[in-house]
Amino acid sequence: MAVNRTPLIAGNWKMNLDHLQSIAFVQKLAWSLKDARHDFDQVEVAVFPPFTDLRSVQTLIAADKLPLEFGGQDVSQHDSGAYTGEISGAFLRALECKYVIVGHSERRQYHAETDEVVAAKVSAARRNGLVPVLCVGETADDLEQHGPSAVPVAQLQAAIAGLPKTADLVVAYEPVWAIGSGTPATPEQAQTVCKALRTALEEALGQDAAASTRILYGGSVKAANIAGFMRQPDIDGALVGGASLDVAEFASIARYR
Ligand code: PGA
Repeated sequence: MAVNRTPLIAGNWKMNLDHLQSIAFVQKLAWSLKDARHDFDQVEVAVFPPFTDLRSVQTLIAADKLPLEFGGQDVSQHDSGAYTGEISGAFLRALECKYVIVGHSERRQYHAETDEVVAAKVSAARRNGLVPVLCVGETADDLEQHGPSAVPVAQLQAAIAGLPKTADLVVAYEPVWAIGSGTPATPEQAQTVCKALRTALEEALGQDAAASTRILYGGSVKAANIAGFMRQPDIDGALVGGASLDVAEFASIARYR
């Protein structure tokens, strides 16, 4: 982790916790981090609740001035219109979301999101003032056939082609074989890919963007393994699924230092 990039610990709740549960969870998380004297300037903490929770989470964070960020788990590539079931970037921005996850492997896999769709969603997020948390990662088959970095780098290149050099973006490297499996990549494996991703950022967007963009690791991150990832020079945080649903566990991940 380089000193000039603020680490980001992000909790992807997926389809868990309804809006009432989300209120209790965010209150407990804020207390727990405050009790531990978490320095929010040193490590940014963000949660990604389901859409139906966002208004509750926004209201609570604003009312209690909690130093937590939040975002949606997906965004439509369109801004408005006849797209039943879709949520626009403008709606997320109106709820004061800072971030939005784009291209999560579960969206690519279960909703057939192609690189083109993911690129359109990155644009939609940016057009609406949201910072995309762009997920890339290879399956076990990809790893066997193409090696560790080829697929995630190609996914990144496809999603950021044409972005301006100053684009605010977070990249999350999430090997599909590590997500929810209990078997994370090793910190060294993750570093190899995150370094390749940073090189691809430099080629596409230039040195400044590569130096300032945060690259997260995701896939079976827990309190017990976060420190090893955070010691890697090209890993600037984590996108946490399962372990982000337990307040104590997620708070200790955020206090990895
Ligand atoms: P996991 O999920 O931490 O449960 O492996 C990570 C993710 O899918 O973002």
